[in-house]
Amino acid sequence: MNSLASVGKKAIAPQLITYPIVETFHSLQGEGTWTGMSAFFIRLAGCDVHCPWCDQKESWTSKIYPQQSVTMLAQTAKAANPAMVVITGGEPLLYDLFPLTQALRKLGLRVHLETSGAHPFTGQFDWVTFSPKPFKVPHHSIYSQVNELKVVVATSDDLPWAEEQANKVPSSVVKYLQPEWNHPESQSLIFDYILDHPQWRMSLQTHKFLGVR
Ligand code: SF4
Repeated sequence: MNSLASVGKKAIAPQLITYPIVETFHSLQGEGTWTGMSAFFIRLAGCDVHCPWCDQKESWTSKIYPQQSVTMLAQTAKAANPAMVVITGGEPLLYDLFPLTQALRKLGLRVHLETSGAHPFTGQFDWVTFSPKPFKVPHHSIYSQVNELKVVVATSDDLPWAEEQANKVPSSVVKYLQPEWNHPESQSLIFDYILDHPQWRMSLQTHKFLGVR
């Protein structure tokens, strides 16, 4: 992305500010609190967290993806008429998200973020889903911004990590444990854990069960 929305005191026009984009698509939100609602996804390219079970490994390298302007992204999202726009990745906080979120909000769109929190927080959001990963420790700036904590669980080793992160977010935050898709045994692990730890809920990747994006 062109670094900031201004150089010195001079604003850069939104059509000149760009981000590397893997894809944009209109679907239903498959995970967490907003499951089942119409959502327009903007998937930014680039991630340096490198989770071994990542289902978006093709998004890790940003250089191979085309740049799209803030203006184009906002107009495309608006035309889809979704209940919300979800900025995801990759790891979106690699970039300054203020220009993109400002443009989306200017069009009256509700804006959500899905992030591992591995980089300093930027942007203005209506909802922040924080999905911390032990492979790159989150930046401290994320913790006061979180609406929803979603910890992916592959093995029982991930549960202490989930508790450690839950202790760092405000008590009002909704807390989810989500089975890692390629570790189906994690479903029963989470099921049993939540019976004993009622502060948690289970999040399922319903879009994968439906066979849609
Ligand atoms: S943070 Fe997300 S995009 Fe990055 S490696 Fe982990 S699961 Fe994949």
